[in-house]
Amino acid sequence: GRRSFDVIVIGAGAAGMMCAATAGLRGRSVLLVDHATRLAEKIRISGGGRCNFTNRRVSADNYLSRNPHFSRSALSRYGARDFIELVEHHGIAYHERDWGQLFCDDSAQDIIDMLRARCDDGGVEWAMPATVEGVARSGDEAERFVVATTQGSFSAHSLVIASGGLAIPKIGATPFGYRVAEQFGLPVVAPRPALVPLTLPPETLALLAPLAGISLEVGAQCRGPVFREAALVTHRGLSGPSILQVSSYWQQQAYDAGDWAPVSLDLLPGVDAEDWLLAHAQDKTLLANLLAERLPRRFAHAWCELHDWQRPLNQYRHAELRTIAAALSGWQLTPSGTQGYAKAEVTLGGVDTRALSSKTLEAREVPGLYFIGEVVDVTGHLGGYNFQWAWSSGVACGLAA
Ligand code: FAD
Repeated sequence: GRRSFDVIVIGAGAAGMMCAATAGLRGRSVLLVDHATRLAEKIRISGGGRCNFTNRRVSADNYLSRNPHFSRSALSRYGARDFIELVEHHGIAYHERDWGQLFCDDSAQDIIDMLRARCDDGGVEWAMPATVEGVARSGDEAERFVVATTQGSFSAHSLVIASGGLAIPKIGATPFGYRVAEQFGLPVVAPRPALVPLTLPPETLALLAPLAGISLEVGAQCRGPVFREAALVTHRGLSGPSILQVSSYWQQQAYDAGDWAPVSLDLLPGVDAEDWLLAHAQDKTLLANLLAERLPRRFAHAWCELHDWQRPLNQYRHAELRTIAAALSGWQLTPSGTQGYAKAEVTLGGVDTRALSSKTLEAREVPGLYFIGEVVDVTGHLGGYNFQWAWSSGVACGLAA
């Protein structure tokens, strides 16, 4: 016969394990289903192997979503402080880096072990590795959902979809969650790679690609906040934390506004470029040589060549120097695209929040069906925010399911 549970969670990643443990510790019978052979690979590889598990300062402003307020409820119910307490309670050593980012001292495996132990404490059962062959409504009020898997068929009162987004398909990311949403008539905001390196058009790349490996601090922006962090020139375009951050906004604005606004890079953050150039207006040195005082030398020369600004400073009129200064503090770049899901850290878009309760993550029109974590249209900035959303949405659902 078919085994029955109070709750079936599909996807044993960050959100799924957090939810399963929370429901189990409340006394619910829980089954966790995952097709992977190794548990929580994404946590294991996260944060360079040390898992940036949350951030000291988390608010709804750190997330992109069609509904910018949606994350507020779950974040306030179970926030960064709650997760930090859990980590401390399990004796996991951690440290803080720039911008309040918290990482394990030893290994991301500590976080996986902690979640696994909590699932054990909650009596959670596992079907793993198991491929889901289909989910359906049963018509029975007590056991509303039936899940057919390669390890047998199971039924449950609540079904939680925690299968994540599309980033890094080679470790098991699938569009499963979006398909389930569509099957039950829920809208899905088109998924796109985010926190992803940007590619540049051939004419820009011809001059910049030879500089691959050069990194500089910039202020990057695309119709959103300014991210003052490093940018890195790659053989395909641009990467580095500031570029990953701004890539999410570049992807979002194209979708929302239907056009492709450029990315703006302030190459001299904190410097008044106009004052600086005008103060050197009489110099007989090449513009590139002056720029090399504040920018990596090879970058300064390539940037001047790209714009055809290759004369000595004293051969520019003040109006031209102002134009150059404006380009330095707001270099407008139109990327040709992104490096895609293979290199993305997260997926922008997902199950439309309008279809979900912000308190419980339950589908408004399908009682008992929940979506949590990255599969939902809530996407965090770089810096521990995506895991915090997984923990917060996982707990909100685990307390309700
Ligand atoms: P996941 O953790 O991806 O879990 C989804 C689970 O569902 C997986 O176990 C998968 O096997 C399973 N699954 C998928 N499809 C199916 C299916 N059809 N059937 C059965 N099971 C299925 N975020 C941070 O906050 N800090 C970081 O340091 C950080 N570093 C990252 C580094 C990298 C390289 C990447 C790719 C991401 C990083 N992220 C980081 C983002 C973070 O990992 C994700 O946002 C987070 O894991 C999402 O949690 P989730 O539970 O929703 O999905």
